[in-house]
Amino acid sequence: MTRATSLNRGLLALPDPATTRRAFLVGLGATGLGACASNPVSGTLRAAETPEIPDGFREWIVAFRPRALGRGISAATYDRVMNSVVPETSVFKSDKSQPETIEPIWRYVDRRTNEYNVATGRKRIQEYAALWDRIEARYGVDRHLLCALWGLESSFGDLAVSTKYMKPVMNCLAALAWGEPRRRTYWEAELLNGLVIIDRGWAEPSGMIGSWAGAMGHTQWMPEVWLNMGVDFDGDGKINPFGKPDDALAGTARYMVERGKYRRGEAWGYEVSFDPGFDLGDADGKTRHTIAHWTARGMRRADGQPFPRSGDIARIWLPAGAKGPAFALLQNFYAVRSYNPSNKYALAICHLSDKIRGNGTFIHPWPTQERLLTLAETQEMQEKLTAMGFDTGGADGRAGEKTQSALQAWQKSVGMQPADGYPSDKVLERLRGG
Ligand code: CA
Repeated sequence: MTRATSLNRGLLALPDPATTRRAFLVGLGATGLGACASNPVSGTLRAAETPEIPDGFREWIVAFRPRALGRGISAATYDRVMNSVVPETSVFKSDKSQPETIEPIWRYVDRRTNEYNVATGRKRIQEYAALWDRIEARYGVDRHLLCALWGLESSFGDLAVSTKYMKPVMNCLAALAWGEPRRRTYWEAELLNGLVIIDRGWAEPSGMIGSWAGAMGHTQWMPEVWLNMGVDFDGDGKINPFGKPDDALAGTARYMVERGKYRRGEAWGYEVSFDPGFDLGDADGKTRHTIAHWTARGMRRADGQPFPRSGDIARIWLPAGAKGPAFALLQNFYAVRSYNPSNKYALAICHLSDKIRGNGTFIHPWPTQERLLTLAETQEMQEKLTAMGFDTGGADGRAGEKTQSALQAWQKSVGMQPADGYPSDKVLERLRGG
């Protein structure tokens, strides 16, 4: 949704990181702001170079003014910014980029942990050694993890100011606050946050370039994150997610500590293996047990090393089913996930961080030889599961976390082994057979 998909040497291919900082934004791209289809502006889309103010927008600026002033934004700032805003009505265009095929998780992860990102990440680790030292001293967040997040969010800053793919955020937020009824409260709040940022003298609208949904800079902050989690780490008196990466990286470290409960000095998790007969039914990415509990049941680290702390709480996740790698996920995995609520996003960052640090690939290979269910087959599977009372959260043809949970619950209910929640040929056959 950053519209960065075609950019960045094909590395990003999102729809997730930057704009889906919050769970309720997930799916916005898929549904494409469809609720706006009836909005009068949707029929009068103009290119950005033909600024046209839609009917009613000026009146809305006047009506919204007391809200901004009530928030403490100066009248001068409000009038100056809002009177020159050109609403970016392209934000109402429905997203037609529904893929024809499903991207397997290994392709998602591989693309983001490729040679370019590993090599660039290592360079940035060297180049910013002093900055990483300061951030680790203050926040305790591992430099390799932060560096990997930087790589995924903006290709280490390449996209942070790319005006070709990014838009003036205030124009987008004004359009959304005015004309996107489903999330109006959210867009209004972010527009106000943007105005506060300008009022504080941290930025001007012309410099606030980002995704259509308002994510900006090295680590793709929404205005709320900029305002509340930002840190003036280079001491120039302003908090700036652009330019020197100091503020962006330090603020993101702060986010991971304060909102993600990051724990200094601990791993994000481990690739694990299981003794024969291990019950995969609890390996659902949700059930929490101590490492001691899991190891007593037959879980080991895939590399044969001991776990450093047996009391850590872990969840086990099999992103590609029983035939692929398995992971014991610890708190720091969820600290990354707090930045963007997607397991595969967090896994890509954690894995890239390991590779930047110098570790290799996963020990168990991905099951790349397995045939993937098509979009239509996945939808059929979702419909069958839903009809039997296992909630897949809709039938969108993509086997996300909710679908995998539903599938695993069904597998357990019929005693199918392995109950790994992975949508395979066999599973579909069994579902078709009733
Ligand atoms: Ca600063």
